[in-house]
Amino acid sequence: MNHFHFIKGRLYAEEVAVTTIAETFGTPVYIYSHATLTRHIKAYERAFTGFPHVICFAVKANSNAAILKLFSSLGAGADVVSGGELFRALKAGIKADRIVYAGVGKTSEEIALAIKHRILMFNVESMEELQEIDRVAAGMKTKAPIALRINPDIDPQTHPYISTGLKKHKFGIPIEKAIECYRIASAMKNIKVVGIHKHIGSQLTKISPFVDSLKRILALLRELRSLGIDIKYLDIGGGVGITYNDERPPHPSELGKNILPLLKNSGITLVIEPGRSIVGNAGILVTKALYLKQGSDKKFLIVDAAMNDLIRPSIYGAYHRIEPVVKTKRGKILSDIVGPICESGDFLAKDREITQVKQGELLAIMSAGAYGFSMASNYNSRPKPAEVMVKGKDFALIRKRETYLDLIRGESIPDFL
Ligand SMILES: *Cc1c(COP(=O)(O)O)cnc(C)c1O
Repeated sequence: MNHFHFIKGRLYAEEVAVTTIAETFGTPVYIYSHATLTRHIKAYERAFTGFPHVICFAVKANSNAAILKLFSSLGAGADVVSGGELFRALKAGIKADRIVYAGVGKTSEEIALAIKHRILMFNVESMEELQEIDRVAAGMKTKAPIALRINPDIDPQTHPYISTGLKKHKFGIPIEKAIECYRIASAMKNIKVVGIHKHIGSQLTKISPFVDSLKRILALLRELRSLGIDIKYLDIGGGVGITYNDERPPHPSELGKNILPLLKNSGITLVIEPGRSIVGNAGILVTKALYLKQGSDKKFLIVDAAMNDLIRPSIYGAYHRIEPVVKTKRGKILSDIVGPICESGDFLAKDREITQVKQGELLAIMSAGAYGFSMASNYNSRPKPAEVMVKGKDFALIRKRETYLDLIRGESIPDFL
């Protein structure tokens, strides 16, 4: 469910016409719906009511300050994967004791920053990292709270690049080694073992990988407890998938219904780190048609958004629905929809059937709120797009479009030139 809809053939974000926003701020522009963002956080809250839980929004999916501020005001925590994300989360008012920190390459500076702010726990990805956390915590004369990220070797049945829980992946500690690693961790002087973490992948459209991996983790939890290792937090990683095209992912409530019975009497606090399902369908990317080029084999609709603004089609072959912002009765064409970047991989859609558009008309790339702007770059020296949030009849800029000066900020010419 989201709040982008057509009224008399015109696309609206809540109560604001998308054309109005494009006229005000130009294109390309990301537009987010406050109502959709709120609704999605609440759907997870409701799915786990009655059971102790923390919803830690995965900041990498969308790290805009205004969006984090909204989630903070709704009581959400954060899942961060870098010092920069930790900084953003804290700055947005997210409580440190609701922040978990994953990632295979935490530096000692990042570790120290997280310890200083007293985050809920580190989700530790290797024994080498654990030793480093122990060392940094010792230097700070404290104990660092940790969970080990356990790789349950379950196939999430998603795109290989966003699948993370198999033996071949760089993430986590193999489940066969878990007991031994927990023994070592619990004997470390400056480490406090508090949890177990797993995250098997993203855009999961079935419940079974969640349930199967949880069962493996729960068996481990029982074994750990029998060894006297106390586990307070069970972090089950990212959330459910979303509908980009015709996927039918489970609703968070279905996830709750399937996993809460398994956790009965476990005495744990559940942590979940949804990203995509919170922000994905709460955002669109609006772009303007520049040219309809007739190639020798196919048509190319060239637009002013490109892979630097939204890279998912290029790197995952991801499908995004693309709609004209103002519907017309013109016929359909089959076309690639591409950006201005000098790469053949710069496309937003391949062989897409779309209503004919004329130069200057607007298109909306749907489901672009997750891993959209947060993966944007300045490739080809393209300023990053503006971001706008809509709430009812109101709308506001939440990130200015970058300027050419922004492109060279921080660069300098050495004296020897
Ligand atoms: C990316 C990531 C998430 C978020 O996954 P979604 O599929 O976007 O919900 C959660 N936890 C970790 C550790 C991640 O790397």
